[in-house]
Amino acid sequence: MTAPDSAIVVGAGITGCTIARVLAHAGTKVEVLDCRDQIGGLCADHTDPHGNMVQDYGPHFFHTNDLGVVDFLNQFCGAWSLYHHRVKARAAGQLYQFPVNDDTCCALGTPNVSNEVDPTGLDAQTYLDQKIGPLLTAYFFSGYSQKQWGVPLREIPAWVVARVNPRRDRNPDYFLDTFQGVPKAGFSIMLLEMLNHDNISLDLGCKPIHVRSFDRTDRPLVYTGSLDHFFDYSTQCRIGTLLYRHTEFRFVNIPGANPLPATCINECDLDTPHTRLTDNHQMYHRPAGSFEPDSRTFTLERSVCTAPGNPSDEGTVACYPIPWDEGAKERHAAYLRLAQELPYLYVAGRLADYKYYNMDQAVRRGLDVASLILRGERQC
Ligand SMILES: Cc1cc2nc3c(=O)[nH]c(=O)nc-3n(C[C@H](O)[C@H](O)[C@H](O)COP(=O)(O)OP(=O)(O)OC[C@H]3O[C@@H](n4cnc5c(N)ncnc54)[C@H](O)[C@@H]3O)c2cc1C
Repeated sequence: MTAPDSAIVVGAGITGCTIARVLAHAGTKVEVLDCRDQIGGLCADHTDPHGNMVQDYGPHFFHTNDLGVVDFLNQFCGAWSLYHHRVKARAAGQLYQFPVNDDTCCALGTPNVSNEVDPTGLDAQTYLDQKIGPLLTAYFFSGYSQKQWGVPLREIPAWVVARVNPRRDRNPDYFLDTFQGVPKAGFSIMLLEMLNHDNISLDLGCKPIHVRSFDRTDRPLVYTGSLDHFFDYSTQCRIGTLLYRHTEFRFVNIPGANPLPATCINECDLDTPHTRLTDNHQMYHRPAGSFEPDSRTFTLERSVCTAPGNPSDEGTVACYPIPWDEGAKERHAAYLRLAQELPYLYVAGRLADYKYYNMDQAVRRGLDVASLILRGERQC
């Protein structure tokens, strides 16, 4: 492997930080640029003025079966809180265990019918009706998905909801992965440590980078932002905007508040505008009694539509790509074809790949793209 002398990485989210660190370790001088004034991308967290550790862009829990990714992160994480995520769902005004398990069904007085159903080619409504029946679907999925995606379950492919599978047991854990946790010091500190290398320089709060930001570059340029922004859809080409479902995050600090009955409450009822309520303090899982804050900071998430120029998008964050939208899929493929014409360009991450990645998948993607660069191979 021959490391390039220098490289540029656009985006200091978990994907960009991973790539920068691997290249720097191999001897490449890496310039990391981000238009935000902080590192971490969507994984960013901080301690708020009330002493609560808060996630800036909604609750993030690390979970994976990819132990190679855990080994990589262990170099920078310090210690993990071996936190297992728990969720309750509020439906028809009552709280239930979620994902659906025997306790949920017992509380609702309904049998737990969790059938084996292949989601391939099915819409989410058909899949869930076959999988758990119309009652549980209506309680836990219909309203929530309508608020989250802005369309009924019939218009969403089954794989979107199949990620959270109902169970025939009483295990309350949200994820079942081999490794689950949250960095004790927070994700931002972990990523700062990743960028802490003599070969890495960091430029935060830069102007958004696009295809014309550099006259000509022979060094590899890794781009982890949205490809429509890179190719500057408004002026340079006419491919069009990539759709994302946006989220508005609202933080509320309440002195003397009691803990929520679970870290997150999924709000399934249509007449509740937000989709999720999070008790930030529980995420970092300080053992009971060790530190109880005087106040708790809660996060409320509300999902909004993504039409360009829609005033309701102000103050919101592009969170979820909508890769099943045929138009968006085609536009992304067209941008990828443009990207392939630039021999120095590598794209990676949830925005550039236009895919929902969990953090472990984003790190794995970063490790793979960094290896490509070190092998001097182009991205196909
Ligand atoms: C609400 C929510 C909750 C989530 N919860 C979890 C969870 O519990 N567990 C889990 O594993 N995953 C979770 N995820 C997924 C996780 O956030 C992603 O896997 C991760 O953030 C992907 O990192 P990234 O670096 O690819 O992208 P990002 O984090 O978006 O980073 C991209 C960076 O690039 C910068 N940038 C973009 N364009 C430009 C430009 N043109 N010029 C300069 N800078 C630019 C941005 O400012 C940003 O800092 C969640 C996602 C969301 C939306």
